[in-house]
Amino acid sequence: MHAGQVVESAPVRTLFHQPAHPYTRALVRSIPRVDRTVTMEPIPGAVPSLLDPPPGCRYAERCGWVSERCRIVRPPLTRVAADHEVACYGFEERRDAAG
Ligand code: SF4
Repeated sequence: MHAGQVVESAPVRTLFHQPAHPYTRALVRSIPRVDRTVTMEPIPGAVPSLLDPPPGCRYAERCGWVSERCRIVRPPLTRVAADHEVACYGFEERRDAAG
């Protein structure tokens, strides 16, 4: 969930090992590790106001994949595998480009 919206849904193992949404990816990268030295990457920006949320993706101001479409129309939760759903235009574009 990000800003009150489901952005990704999948089995726990998939979320931790194959996160698709940029927010999920950022959350996984921000998990402290005790088994090795890694530089933690904080997630930039802040959650938007839910009193006046933006019309498009609520993660747009924090996202490195953002495009104009993201700011206009909220991305729908889309099935990307039998048990995996993602609400992200950038993921769809990257998946489609990879063939
Ligand atoms: S829909 Fe756009 S802004 Fe939102 S997470 Fe995906 S790429 Fe980023």
